Amino acid sequence: MNQGLLTVSYIGATILFILSLGGLSNPETARRGNLFGVIGMTIAVLATLMGPKLAGAGNLALIIVAMAIGGGIGIFAAIRVKMTEMPELVALMHSLVGLAAMLVGFANYIDPTSTLTGAEKTIHEMEIYIGILIGAVTFSGSIVAFGKLSGRIGGKPLTLPGRHQFNFGLLIVTVLLGKVFLNAHGISAGMTPLLAMTAIALLFGVHMVMAIGGADMPVVVSMLNSYSGWAAAATGFMLSNDLLIVVGALVGSSGAILSYIMCRAMNRKFLAVIGGGFGSDGGTPTSSAGAAPAGEVVAVSALETAELLREAKNVVIVPGYGMAVAQAQHTVFEITQLLRSKGKNVRFAIHPVAGRMPGHMNVLLAEAKVPYDIVLEMDEINEDFPSTDVTMVIGANDIVNPSALEDPNSPIAGMPVLEVWKSTTSIVMKRSMASGYAGVDNPLFYKENNRMLFGDAKKMLDEVLNNLRG
Ligand code: NDP
Repeated sequence: MNQGLLTVSYIGATILFILSLGGLSNPETARRGNLFGVIGMTIAVLATLMGPKLAGAGNLALIIVAMAIGGGIGIFAAIRVKMTEMPELVALMHSLVGLAAMLVGFANYIDPTSTLTGAEKTIHEMEIYIGILIGAVTFSGSIVAFGKLSGRIGGKPLTLPGRHQFNFGLLIVTVLLGKVFLNAHGISAGMTPLLAMTAIALLFGVHMVMAIGGADMPVVVSMLNSYSGWAAAATGFMLSNDLLIVVGALVGSSGAILSYIMCRAMNRKFLAVIGGGFGSDGGTPTSSAGAAPAGEVVAVSALETAELLREAKNVVIVPGYGMAVAQAQHTVFEITQLLRSKGKNVRFAIHPVAGRMPGHMNVLLAEAKVPYDIVLEMDEINEDFPSTDVTMVIGANDIVNPSALEDPNSPIAGMPVLEVWKSTTSIVMKRSMASGYAGVDNPLFYKENNRMLFGDAKKMLDEVLNNLRG
């Protein structure tokens, strides 16, 4: 394939990626968006393989074997992963982008065929330095995020004394090492500052994510998504691959926009987030999982829940992480259909950080074929709670926690939440009194108009459905 055809293929792939991102912004067009992405990536990979750089290099067979192994692992992971493990998988994928950027950086540095000299060489070395820096932060940060999301690492923020000064110190050392690296003569002289910077960047990635409290993890996930894009763009610069630069910038900027949306959803400052080490100064947890209950709760049965629903005209369903764990979305939809067939107004309220990844609840509801027009965002429905007869909270906790609005010392203080307690009756479905991801006690459970339906969400909803049918 000649250079002209390669450029045309890259432009075509870029357009498809942009269409893909556009499609993914809406559940109705997400499937089409995904397809555009797949076609774009297929064109991109084929064009790169057949392009002038690789075609004559004689290592095509090796690349195909590597792709088959990587692709095989990817397919295996995608088939095997449970929906509840998706966020961890995404974090792990981000770490791989970071790792690739690091490895490409080192490979580029020791490339014996490089003939660059003067300013070109300096610019290339700067690309390598920055590429490895972003890659290393993304890699180690994503690994810690994976640990936190999968519960292997506790959600409590690690707040070292003077950690901002520590981070600032690391930044200064990184800049100084960059100077030493650019002035070094020969690969072996440059390798020492490069390796030292890599170690510092890895340490910074770990420290940055460790310092973040459980409630702020959504911002971290979207931020690492953005970092992985910038790492890919940096790799594009190192390899002089225009498509990789464009795609990396697309992922980086869309991740940054998502981070901004998440910040707004959690009432966090965007710039503080970009600086890292945020979200742990909001307060101290008032209590944690298993702490003594702060009042009396009223438990109800599935039968009583069905009766409350039967009498209601306006019903709002608030899904949370527990619905994903219980895989209760299909039963939720069956209940919705039944209630709607009886003329009731049933709608879903989606909090931007519900579940464990952006859009988590939308994906589950789309999978269960819930019509999009009854799935509303927090801003669209929050004002309707006072006119709602029954709100069913299914495995959600932090996103309906009134202490975010009422207790300035709460770790989630200031975070906008779904104000379900304003409806005539709220029913919270969960297995116990345990707290949610943020580890904060929830005063909603003790409100007079709140009822608790204890048990696995799928099991309890099946019982509610049977009672509604009976
Ligand atoms: P929470 O983690 O606050 O609460 C989920 C609740 O579901 C738990 O309290 C649990 O209670 C209950 N639950 C678990 N399994 C079941 C089950 N099988 N049946 C019934 N209930 C169950 O989830 P929310 O969705 O309310 O809030 C999301 C939280 O996750 C926020 O703190 C957010 O910041 C954080 N987060 C979000 C990310 C995102 O991108 N969306 C990423 C990372 C973190 P019990 O054990 O008693 O059943």
